[in-house]
Amino acid sequence: MRVLEERIREEGLILSETVLKVDSFLNHQVDTELALQIGQEFKTVFGHLPITKILTVEASGIQFAMAAGIALGVPFIYAKKKKAVTLSEGVYSAPVHSFTRQEDYLISISQKYLGPEDKVLIVDDFLATGAALVGLADIVKESGAQLLGVGCVIEKSFQEGRSLLEKRGIPVHALARISSMAPGEIHFIANEEQ
Ligand code: 5GP
Repeated sequence: MRVLEERIREEGLILSETVLKVDSFLNHQVDTELALQIGQEFKTVFGHLPITKILTVEASGIQFAMAAGIALGVPFIYAKKKKAVTLSEGVYSAPVHSFTRQEDYLISISQKYLGPEDKVLIVDDFLATGAALVGLADIVKESGAQLLGVGCVIEKSFQEGRSLLEKRGIPVHALARISSMAPGEIHFIANEEQ
């Protein structure tokens, strides 16, 4: 997605060899117009599939799951990271190791909102180690729903996330695929539709 790659080049801050900060338009302040365009792009890629629910993890996937949900006309669910008192019974849970925070946490979704009748698209902001998305994929499996694909806004292709998901037979599409990055220099892998 060219407009996204341009913004990453213009505004992305490379914090280390593996961490990209995009807080000015994606992760902290959110460019709402761009977020909606991202949702439309997910529709272009996945719209032919019979998706009934979008799934993401709080907090940074929410705006893109919502944009995809609006574009596809389906609800989205975000997995919660803290065990809320309101989410005490009937939950699907999976452990996740956080790449950015270097800690383990549990993600949970109420069993009320996901079941064998659902066909799911997982959406997230970054595909890095894939830990968060594998956790979500485990939850989808536990629920008996069918996982149709994973859509990510930014993929860091030099990390193992994509291969981890593809090994499980999950189709993955990322809107911007970074092959390498260093201060002042970001390289992208071209997507077929560009
Ligand atoms: P994972 O390693 O599980 O694929 O990534 C989990 C989460 O860590 C992503 O959804 C994203 O929120 C965060 N993350 C991973 N890599 C980066 C990065 O380079 N920059 C930012 N801002 N967040 C990241």
